Amino acid sequence: MRILITNDDGIHSPGLLTLARAASRFGDVRIVAPHVEQSSMGHAITSARPLSWRKTVVESFEAYRVDGTPADCVALGASQWDGVNTVLSGINLGPNLGNAMWHSGTLAGAKQAALLGLRGIALSTSMIGEDPAPGHLEPFLSQVLELLLHAEADLPLVNVNFPREPKGIMWTRQAVRHYDGHVVPGQDPMGRRHFWFIVKPIEQVEEGTDLWAVQRGMVSMTPLRLDLTDHARLAEARARHPREGDAPRS
Ligand code: MN
Repeated sequence: MRILITNDDGIHSPGLLTLARAASRFGDVRIVAPHVEQSSMGHAITSARPLSWRKTVVESFEAYRVDGTPADCVALGASQWDGVNTVLSGINLGPNLGNAMWHSGTLAGAKQAALLGLRGIALSTSMIGEDPAPGHLEPFLSQVLELLLHAEADLPLVNVNFPREPKGIMWTRQAVRHYDGHVVPGQDPMGRRHFWFIVKPIEQVEEGTDLWAVQRGMVSMTPLRLDLTDHARLAEARARHPREGDAPRS
């Protein structure tokens, strides 16, 4: 197995090193990651200028730092490595749960893999501002990789989140009911108005969701798909307002 590792915290994040070490037990590892932090950049790609990649040192791993986004790193890394079949993105030092998935650069690395027909797994942890080396997530990290990298695991895109102190692992769905992003006005030291985009904790969580699992100390694994189509509403719209050229209903 050829495993490309990326992240959005930057190539020197301890979360990436933890992941690369664990992944190296499952196959050949190569690191292609942003040279500076790209958190919350979502699935942006760089199209108005060329990308450069430079060989760099991350322990004994073959590693390249890129002046681009996580999605750039995966597109570039996959194009330059024949036979790569798996992309692991993370471990992000911060959660990527519920609607935060829309902004996540970590998840974008895995989504880019899925767009290219590769397996993509995003991994994040809720620990923020504590011990920044998530090495203690072993052995749960190994268990997750064993499960998701297994030859029979037919899961092309999965979002994994680790709580601070994992107690177990469960399958979850994305918590979509509430959005936790807010814009808060403030003032800079010169008296000028500015605005912060902040995230507030979600109080009501629904059972079975990623958010619910992580709040209960469980590692959440959410299988995802790239198809954003609302198939039920599409069928409804076609039935109510048929248009010429609609695909025949089966
Ligand atoms: Mn990040």
